Amino acid sequence: MVTSEYERRIAARFAGFDQDGNGYIDREDFMAAAKALLAEFGTAARSDKGQALYVGAEAFWQGMAGIADRDGDQRITREEFVNGAVKRLRDNPDRFAEIARPFLHAALAVAGGDAGVGVDDTARVLRVLGVDKEVAAQAAAQLDTDGDGRIDEEEIVSAFARYFTVPE
Ligand code: CA
Ligand code: CA
Repeated sequence: MVTSEYERRIAARFAGFDQDGNGYIDREDFMAAAKALLAEFGTAARSDKGQALYVGAEAFWQGMAGIADRDGDQRITREEFVNGAVKRLRDNPDRFAEIARPFLHAALAVAGGDAGVGVDDTARVLRVLGVDKEVAAQAAAQLDTDGDGRIDEEEIVSAFARYFTVPE
């Protein structure tokens, strides 16, 4: 079997969602991502920011399951991910932004403050969410288009959508 560059990138995205590496994406992976972000930034789960992050993670999971879990077993297999999520999200990147936004909004609140999030902290968020280290650093730097060292929600939502809606 020939592994194309496209398939390799899809596999990397799947691995990013499959936080515990058990071969399928389910609610536990989203809860693990929230937990990892809170640990990375030293935020308590019971704080307002922590609770918002868990609510966002649940909404993100429900949105992904609605798109990709075709047999309704509360698990997204690699096959469901490739044939459901990736294709449908590529056709409709706005939909992906919509389901990811509450989680990303809460993640930025955890990582930064009212003034926005710095480039380095944005790279940390992306890494915790499974983006390759090199890609995360590059993406965070590129997001800061005006060079003021801060990144806003709109920029990170669209970047995240671009990364996970892999072009063929
Ligand atoms: Ca998993
Ligand atoms: Ca399934």
